[in-house]
Amino acid sequence: PYSFSLNPLLSASGVKGKPVTSLSQETDGLFGYIQSVINEKPETDSPFMVLDLGVVMDLMDNWSRLLPTVQPFYAVKCNPNPSLLGTLAALGSSFDCASKSEIETVLSLGVSPDRIIYANPCKSVSHVHYAASVGVNVTTFDSKEEVEKIRKWHPKCQLLLRIKPPQDSGARNSLGLKYGALQEEVPMLLQAARDAELTVIGVSFHIGSGGADAKAYHGAIAAAKSVFKMASKLDMQKMHVLDIGGGFSSGTEFGVAAVHVNDALETNFGNDEGITVIGEPGRYFAETAFTLATKVIGKRVRGELREYWINDGIYGYLNCIILDFVRVRCTPLRCSSKHEDDVDESKTYLSTVFGPTCDSLDTVLRDYQLMELELDDWLVFPNMGAYTISSGTNFNGFSTSAIPTHLTYSNTVLREKNTMF
Ligand code: PLP
Repeated sequence: PYSFSLNPLLSASGVKGKPVTSLSQETDGLFGYIQSVINEKPETDSPFMVLDLGVVMDLMDNWSRLLPTVQPFYAVKCNPNPSLLGTLAALGSSFDCASKSEIETVLSLGVSPDRIIYANPCKSVSHVHYAASVGVNVTTFDSKEEVEKIRKWHPKCQLLLRIKPPQDSGARNSLGLKYGALQEEVPMLLQAARDAELTVIGVSFHIGSGGADAKAYHGAIAAAKSVFKMASKLDMQKMHVLDIGGGFSSGTEFGVAAVHVNDALETNFGNDEGITVIGEPGRYFAETAFTLATKVIGKRVRGELREYWINDGIYGYLNCIILDFVRVRCTPLRCSSKHEDDVDESKTYLSTVFGPTCDSLDTVLRDYQLMELELDDWLVFPNMGAYTISSGTNFNGFSTSAIPTHLTYSNTVLREKNTMF
């Protein structure tokens, strides 16, 4: 399997013009580490992310323990941070890419193309062409038009038929609204692939991302099994790949989801030989591994109400509030020299927190209880790794892509604090 040492990875990224944090740093937990980053450059006006590599390692351990028969293909769209991708590659993950650029990114890490699935059911021709040129030879489809495109531009490509799961999982992002063949479309699509002389090696689905009810894996895996049966009735080449998509969260929910998946696999595929099961987890690996630190850059007092401005907002990493329907929470880090030593931290005020752009939509928190903050204090947002880095903008000249990521490697104490299992 693909592997490399983490050291080159650590020295390859980090804050521009500043040495990267060493693995042996002395930290007093994640907050101590964030404080030390701020102390090194107290005048900094830039928010920053911290990626905790120990969390990623724990998550991979946990995946291997609870879903041992499911090979992870990390969904790059969730967070393409190179240090995260490199760590996952080193830990044995493969990758789900949805575009030419994502494939390029993963290949540039030295990952071989057979560890990439091009899991986008509707692809631009130029991207298909590129996949063919670099040997990415597995993709998903859910329409006749896509079959024709692949026949023409990448006839060596093997296919997974993406189906729409039969039940709504209640996820915040229901991908079934856009993708997945309906049950009645399946015979026609299998036939189209056969006519195009393309090999359909299996089935994929996605139960929905963010807060999905894991019971939905039962219906989806059973529906996939019925497609396997249909293919054998049509006398097609035997299917042997089941792709159960993403939809996993970390924490205790993962244990519950794993039980549902394992049960459903046993029920539907327990008697089948030679089946490879893969998953496309995104949120599971990225969400809890990243913490965002933002500086308080503005303040207004209106009676008992406190209003603050911070240097990241909904056009930056905190876009997840709008695009991923997340309710964020934060913890203050007192850094301002204006605080009296005996300030009562337990006294809180109803507070609003705004992002830095001139749009009033750029509001991060409303009706949130916070201690009295001053300019140059910081607010720290945990669990900021999923669908944040990948979807920020440059609106108002605040460039999301310029926000640095610092790396930390958890010591035992920190790992215990951060491990949610
Ligand atoms: N696979 C596909 C095809 C997706 O579209 C997505 C998310 O949109 C994922 C995997 C990752 O999903 P999640 O972050 O819920 O694991």
